Amino acid sequence: MSQLKFDRDEARQLRAAGLSYAAIGARLGVSQAAIARVLNPTTRQKEREANRSYYRKRPCHYCGGECSWNPHSKRGHPVPRCRKCASDQKRTTVRSDTLKCLRCGEWKPDDDFPHSSYNVRRRGRHSFCRPCGTLARQEYRVKVKVPCALCGQPALPFTEKGANGSRSVVPICLSCERTRRREARALRRGSQTVLR
Ligand SMILES: [Zn+2]
Ligand SMILES: [Zn+2]
Ligand SMILES: [Zn+2]
Repeated sequence: MSQLKFDRDEARQLRAAGLSYAAIGARLGVSQAAIARVLNPTTRQKEREANRSYYRKRPCHYCGGECSWNPHSKRGHPVPRCRKCASDQKRTTVRSDTLKCLRCGEWKPDDDFPHSSYNVRRRGRHSFCRPCGTLARQEYRVKVKVPCALCGQPALPFTEKGANGSRSVVPICLSCERTRRREARALRRGSQTVLR
């Protein structure tokens, strides 16, 4: 119904010239009903009401509620659904009681996602579920690693280390860091014995 398969003005002109709906339809290559729908407001109204009651008659397949008139549901969706369920299903990551994890793709309850105040559209929840968040952080740490300045093994850059991490600006891997601290301790101990 949304796509015009014939010229409405032409149909009107033919109607004004006295042709029947059937004759206009035959000339324009569409059905008589299609012509009536365009030229006769009563037919249009009746059809709309029939559609409306047809959809309202059937309960929503998902919640059992009353279906609203939704002409697209006939084409786009196999079962009747109410407006709320339709819009709920259209949403790709947020439903009324669950959220979709953007990493594993699973729908989970809100509590399975860490809080994230800026994520207003996800009811203040993170895009990744808790287990996925852990995995993502682990992967991130591997990805940002750079060669250790001493041995060339993968090491976290100093920008990724917290307050207790290495103070060194050059990247140093964990094992080199440990060796360095051990040597520093030994050196201190050595100087203490010398002083004594
Ligand atoms: Zn519903
Ligand atoms: Zn997940
Ligand atoms: Zn190293």
